[in-house]
Amino acid sequence: NADAAMYHAKSSGRNNYKFYTADLNARAREILAIESQLRHAVDRHEFVLHYQPQVEMSSGNIIGAEALIRWNHPTLGLLGPLHFIDVAEERGYIVQIGNWVIREACRQIAEWHGKGLPLMTVGVNLSALQFRHQDLVGLLQDALAEYQLPGSCLDVEVTESVIMDDLESTVQTIRAIQAMGIRMSIDDFGTGYSSLAYLKRFKADKLKIDRSFVRDIPGDQDDTAITRAIINMSKNLNMQVVAEGVETVEQWQFLAQEGCHQVQGYLLSKPVSAEAVEPLLRQKCLLPRLE
Ligand code: C2E
Ligand code: MG
Ligand code: MG
Ligand code: MG
Repeated sequence: NADAAMYHAKSSGRNNYKFYTADLNARAREILAIESQLRHAVDRHEFVLHYQPQVEMSSGNIIGAEALIRWNHPTLGLLGPLHFIDVAEERGYIVQIGNWVIREACRQIAEWHGKGLPLMTVGVNLSALQFRHQDLVGLLQDALAEYQLPGSCLDVEVTESVIMDDLESTVQTIRAIQAMGIRMSIDDFGTGYSSLAYLKRFKADKLKIDRSFVRDIPGDQDDTAITRAIINMSKNLNMQVVAEGVETVEQWQFLAQEGCHQVQGYLLSKPVSAEAVEPLLRQKCLLPRLE
């Protein structure tokens, strides 16, 4: 596993030039391997989607799941997006990869539905290049049509930086996407360089409070104030609000008390394979054990 290898290289290389060089070499080799092999990874069927349940706080009902990409690398093992998404964006591969993500999510929803599960809503992350370099609306339409799914099965997650990248044309595209019944979420809310004015240009369905704000609630006063403000603003603007990265019962209790609608986080489930998430979807409800 590459994470373990990097960790090992780092922890054993403290203040030691030789190991430091070995560490850099290992990292450089990893980047080279990633750059050269990423181009073929879609054709070689090396990507997989993992799924993290999204839970309604008031009931514990699983109301959807976020699809998070993993790369089953031939030599480095299963890699998370932090190892390759930036490279994929720089090289433009993210367009092809992103198309695969949309189609694969639709295929999976149809498969689950075929096995008797209710129709799911799956969140897919979109990058700015997908808005700029292709007919995103047509692509979403085709993927839904191929698997005979309604738009309500998809929830597209974009960050504020994607929106601000080309505000005018992105707003047009988002409106067209929403007109198909697809939900639209603002990811990592509060962390991008943006003005809140974009919230008036289209109606986002959901705000996802970034994990960096959630991490230190309820102990940290600033994070507590920010999280509370985002929850209140979302409600006043008639948007759903989701807290990301919920890991503790204390965070859950604070968010419940503030009336946050939904949560996602290790407290309930890590992102897991489609096979592993299926029993959770069947069981429909997921609540933390409150002591
Ligand atoms: P994101 O969309 O904000 O996804 C949430 C990230 O937080 C995921 O990391 C998830 O595994 C992690 N997470 C969830 N709950 C917890 C928790 O309780 N504690 C902690 N420590 N982490 C938690 P992951 O899977 O490594 O993905 C990282 C980012 O990569 C995503 O952030 C998203 O921006 C990007 N990404 C993932 N899949 C795709 C994709 O298909 N396309 C594009 N363009 N980007 C993707
Ligand atoms: Mg996301
Ligand atoms: Mg996020
Ligand atoms: Mg993120």
